[in-house]
This record gives sequence, structure tokens and C-alpha cells, in this order.
Amino acid sequence: MSEIEERLSELERLGLGRRLRLISGPQGPTVLLEGKPVLLLCSNNYLGLADHPRVREAAADAAMRWGVGAGASRLVSGSMTIHGRLEERLADFKGTEGCLLFGSGYLANLGVIGALAGAGDTVFSDELNHASIIDGCRLSRAAVVVYRHRDVEHLEWSMRRHAGGREGRRLIVSDSVFSMDGDVAPLLELAELAQTYGARTVIDEAHAVGNLGPDGRGAVAEAGLEGEIDVVIGTLGKALGSYGAYACASAEIVRYLINTSRSLIFSTAPPPPAVAGALAALELLRERPHRVARLRSNARALRRALAAEGFPVTESEMHIVPLIVGDERQAMRLCQEAIEGGVFAQAIRPPTVASGSSRLRLTAMASHTASELREAAGLLGRVARRIGLDPESLTAGQVERQAPPRASAGEDFAGEISARRAGAAPFDAESSGAPAGDSAAPFDIERDLSGARAA
Ligand code: PMP
Repeated sequence: MSEIEERLSELERLGLGRRLRLISGPQGPTVLLEGKPVLLLCSNNYLGLADHPRVREAAADAAMRWGVGAGASRLVSGSMTIHGRLEERLADFKGTEGCLLFGSGYLANLGVIGALAGAGDTVFSDELNHASIIDGCRLSRAAVVVYRHRDVEHLEWSMRRHAGGREGRRLIVSDSVFSMDGDVAPLLELAELAQTYGARTVIDEAHAVGNLGPDGRGAVAEAGLEGEIDVVIGTLGKALGSYGAYACASAEIVRYLINTSRSLIFSTAPPPPAVAGALAALELLRERPHRVARLRSNARALRRALAAEGFPVTESEMHIVPLIVGDERQAMRLCQEAIEGGVFAQAIRPPTVASGSSRLRLTAMASHTASELREAAGLLGRVARRIGLDPESLTAGQVERQAPPRASAGEDFAGEISARRAGAAPFDAESSGAPAGDSAAPFDIERDLSGARAA
């Protein structure tokens, strides 16, 4: 057996095997999954814009006008008018001076973190940040301090601890809406701490745009922090229905990113049809914000119906709803049986989430109907019970578990932390500040394969 085959069978043995499922047609509310019609309950096409006629037409027109590919990095073969136009509109939408497009959200996080932190600097990163942030931290070669999820006390304590004598730059980086749990970062507190301790802030709004804030402008706008965060990252691949990403910031930072961001400099610019599609989606969002209201009310309907089935889900308007099963194989089984019943919600397993917290990550879309969502919740309840999973016994998600964040750190926090978290390696005092790649990888596949549990 080759080493690759061995690794693949090890993944299968651990219930972590992955394969691509074939769907026909666009990311609509229902899709044909391997020939079977199912309700799509796991797409990030939150506002239903990926297949909107105006968005499709804009992309098709752009292909005719500008061609399909951008040819090279914008620094090499020139910046196309359509890139500049979308950047202007996005800066206006996010209330910043400037904006810079990237090939994807993954590339944006790599490029921005790497530009703002390097060897000798320190990045403070929430333990549930997206993998692209974790990878951005690793590549930056900065020291990475992973603070406990949404825990501003732990963050402040860590920032104090890493203040003494260090000359390097400091960066706080966080998702605004966390991708696998749908809860929101304590943005006000993060901004305050950044000011107090002289750090920059990078906030990833991938899952916030289209749902939170006035007209779906995101969690930063909802918190009243427009213009206060150093770099706001967002993707064009989710609520904006296309592909690519952006970093919104001051004109100075944008100029700096153009000069230093490796994933911008060394990668082909986003394709014109994708840029034009995103531009049309953004126009639609601004003209008709009722889609945002629709997404929120659908999220509420889905959550209510799941709660009625006994799932530990609270009433809110957050469109990401985790049903945390725990065991990898049980999560896959629930997913498979739900598909048989006509609902597609992909099981999410390590390394995307920590071992033992595998889940169905449900996402409402504005294009669902409330009755579709209620029926889906009923089906999920029935299927769970049939396979011996009592919905009430599922682990509650972060939203349900959370106390509101606290803003000030107690002096005796060091003792408190070690008492509360003895042995929780990725986040405890000793491992914080270790080189990226050690401390910033709570859900690293290597750990899972070696049988170690992520914290
Ligand atoms: N940030 C977050 C929080 C994400 O969830 C994702 C995608 N799942 C990304 C960044 C990456 O964005 P993209 O898909 O555009 O690469």
C-alpha cells in the first residue's frame, strides 16, 4: 500500500473520508443531488444571488466585453476598469476610504495577515477563526497567540502578557460571524483592546455581509465600527453570489497591501465575469435590501422549527445553525439519512471543526420558503430519532452556550486560566505565543490522525 493509500484508509477508518458529491444546476433552494431532488440547506449563497438573472446576465456581458480571464496579476498586465469599479462600490458599501480585490477570501486572509504581521510581530487570533486565518497566521511567521473563543478577558490577559519589551507590530484577527457556529465576535471590545494595546485589527466578514447590519452591510456596521477596523475582509463567494474577495481599509493601508501582499502580487486578478457578477449582486442588495429581511426571517423560521423538534437551538435571526452531533460517523449518518429524506445538509467534521464536535451546519437562504424550512426541520427531527439520536441530547452551539463577553480582565487571570484550562494545550498560557503552526492550529488534521483530541 502506498503512503497515500494508507493515509486515505486511515481517514476512512476515522470517519473522516471526504468525496465530492455531484449536483446538477445552480445553487438554488433545491438542487438535484446525484440525480435526486433535495432541499439545499448548506450553501453560502445566502441571498440567493448566485443564480439571479441580473447577476448571470452581468457575468455573461462581462465575458463578452472583457473576456473570461484577467490575464495576470493586476500589477503585471494592468488593472481592468471593472476591478476598480467594484472596489469603489465596495469601499462605499463598507464605509472605508479604499478597497482591494483578491482572488478569494482564502487568499485575502493570507495576503492581509502576511502583510500586517511578520517575524518579530504578534498576532492574536480567536480559537475558532477560519482555516484561512489560521493559515495566514502560519505563513506570516509572526508569533501567534490563540485566545479562547470570544473571550475578551483572555485576549486582554494575553495582550498584557505579550506587551513587555516587544517592539514588533501586533494584530488582532477574528471572524465577525464565525463560520461553523454562526455566533458573533465581540467587535467593540476587540476594537477597544486594539486601541489600548496599540494593535491593528483585521475582521473577516465572510458570513456577516447580507445578514447583519443596516442593509446587510455586516457586523462591523452593526456594531457602529465602520472606519474603526483597520482591515475588513469579505468574500464575494457567499452572499454576493460570485467568487473573489476584498479587503476594505484606509487608502494608506490599501496602498501598502498593493506593495506587500503576496497573494495579490503573485496571483492572477479575479476574472471579469466574477467581478461583474459581484457588482450586479451588490447593486441588487443595495436596491432591494428586503432580501436581507427575508434571510433573517427564514433563519428565524428554521430555528423555531428545529427548536420545536427538540434541537438545542435558540431563537435568533442568524442564518448559520449548527446541529452538533459529536461523533464523526453519527454526523455522517444523519447527513446521509437526511439526504434520503430530501434534505441536503453536509456533515462538517475535523479538521473544519474540533474532534468530537462534528455537526450538520445548516444555512438558511433568502430564496427558501418558510414552509420548506419547517418541513426540513421536521425531517431532521424524525431522522435523528430514527437513528437513535435524541435531538435534545445534542450539544448546544456556541450561541446557546455563551455568556455575554466581559470587557475587563481580572488581575488574577493567570491563575484562573490555568485552573480552568489545565492541559488545554492550544490555548493555555505556555503555548500562547509559540510560532504559528503550533499554537494556531487547534484543529490540525495531523492531531486528529495521531489520535490526539483538539481542545
Ligand atoms: N473566511 C471565512 C470566515 C470563511 O468561512 C471562508 C470560506 N468558507 C473564507 C474566509 C474563504 O473565502 P473564499 O471561499 O472566498 O475563499
